[in-house]
Amino acid sequence: MKTKRMILLALAGAVLLLQGSGTVAAAGGTDTLRIYSVETGEYSDLAYVRKSPKEWRQILGGERYHILREEGTERPFTGELWDNHREGIYRCAGCGTDLFLSRTKYESGTGWPSFYEPVDPGNIREVKDNSFFMRRTEVECARCGGHLGHVFTDGPQPTGLRYCINSASLVFAARSLEQAPFSKEG
Ligand SMILES: [Zn+2]
Repeated sequence: MKTKRMILLALAGAVLLLQGSGTVAAAGGTDTLRIYSVETGEYSDLAYVRKSPKEWRQILGGERYHILREEGTERPFTGELWDNHREGIYRCAGCGTDLFLSRTKYESGTGWPSFYEPVDPGNIREVKDNSFFMRRTEVECARCGGHLGHVFTDGPQPTGLRYCINSASLVFAARSLEQAPFSKEG
């Protein structure tokens, strides 16, 4: 009886330890995550992108660094992409992960690029954000953890969501999406 209780306690301790180690444990003990690619139409197990603040600053430059790595927000109607109407893929400016498609972008009138859904739920991460005394949901790139913007529930159908994203967090790749495979099998 006593031995059994000891084993249970040990197991509970192990669970606590695993929870404490964060995203690595959450990804099943590996250091990769499943990312969807629009152009191949397939999922791949890719390594997380992790860099020091100094490395990020060198790669991204001042404004992108501030927004992606310090959770900054660009002024509305100033970014490169809020009024972009071309067909293509919006990717993470930090690591190149596919994030949004032109066909899900819409006119929100906010001055920030706005989308009603990401290319795949696994390519982004949503995090509760209670800063500035507001209850918001922050949107991050799943692969590099870069801050993209916030998601709100006043968007258009079919999802009713508004992903309000900084232009500086994105790079746009013009593509004809009719040719891209969109099957999401597997
Ligand atoms: Zn990224």
